[in-house]
Amino acid sequence: MIKVALIKAEDYSESKKCVERLIKLLDFKTPGKKILLKPNMLDPYGPEKAVTTHPEIVKAVANYFSKKGVKIYVGDGSGGKTPEKTLTTFEKTGIKDAVKGLAEFTNFDEDYERVGLDNKDIKKILIGKKISEADLVINLCKLKTHVLTIMTGAVKNTFGCLYGSQKKMAHIRYGYAKSPKKNVDGFSEFLVDLHSKINPQLNIMDGILAMEGNGPSAGEVIKANVMLASTNAFALDYVAAKIMGFDPMKIPTIRISIEKGKFIPADIEVVGGSIEDLKMSFKKPITYSQNEGIIKKIFNAIFSSYVDVDKSSCIKCGKCAIQCPAEAITMNEYPNFDYKKCILCYCCHEMCPKKAIVIKKKLKFKK
Ligand code: SF4
Ligand code: SF4
Repeated sequence: MIKVALIKAEDYSESKKCVERLIKLLDFKTPGKKILLKPNMLDPYGPEKAVTTHPEIVKAVANYFSKKGVKIYVGDGSGGKTPEKTLTTFEKTGIKDAVKGLAEFTNFDEDYERVGLDNKDIKKILIGKKISEADLVINLCKLKTHVLTIMTGAVKNTFGCLYGSQKKMAHIRYGYAKSPKKNVDGFSEFLVDLHSKINPQLNIMDGILAMEGNGPSAGEVIKANVMLASTNAFALDYVAAKIMGFDPMKIPTIRISIEKGKFIPADIEVVGGSIEDLKMSFKKPITYSQNEGIIKKIFNAIFSSYVDVDKSSCIKCGKCAIQCPAEAITMNEYPNFDYKKCILCYCCHEMCPKKAIVIKKKLKFKK
């Protein structure tokens, strides 16, 4: 059986108690002497925005393992392309202050190495160097929706282990697939393979404040009041999807991880609390398909998604143009989109600080 610990968690003031309970429920023993904590540090948002792992959770985990006499690192590569952006994110999220005196920071956009990857398309990647040096990698992920992959959970969180420009490379690699489905499936398979490479032995999910709607940064904050943990991130995401009220099989990374034999749903044993008691109904991202089978095929044949700018929210900062992997955005006061170049990766939507990039649907034959 694969244990997934699930507990109710009212507030971040209870972080220490919750982390200890989750680890106890899993009966997790600390291996080795070097530990790497990998929080979600997407962008420099304060913890109340629910974009990043809450600093109290990172602190509680660092505190717990520091008592075991191990060396602790906290590492990530933010959604930006530079080491400076990751450093700013480390500070602005509150994680830097939270782990002061407990852990050392390692910036994956500065200290990285080339490793092999067992993926059908991408064979070599650059990832944070401390990952292979650690005896234990702990994935500290966030319960959120995602417009490209439907949810950001434990598996998607390891995308941050890639060195800056490699994230762009991965989006580009699949962005030119013939259909949006092939794009998302190819990218999701890469995420599953990348996660298997990083192989965190413990995954703890912060779902006290979560995000619904068009995440991972432009959605709405929701109090989900849950925390989850498992040694198997794929099974953890499966249970988390159910907590969100989503069909797990509509999350590409979950479906593909089952196809690849990463876990069998029937093998999951939920301990601590029950899915039925804690289940919610998260607003779905606009890209979530409610349809099944033939109706879904017809809908996809008629409608397509596209990105646009809401000029009333845009502050003309140009971050979307800098982040676009396909160079499909030029700034002419406001962003202008070259839809022939756009690969629908939604990076502009993800990285806009003002939620000014909107996703719309249009009839395919309409120009
Ligand atoms: S990132 Fe957002 S706010 Fe900045 S220019 Fe682009 S749309 Fe406008
Ligand atoms: S315009 Fe936006 S969705 Fe299109 S390729 Fe650029 S970042 Fe991705």
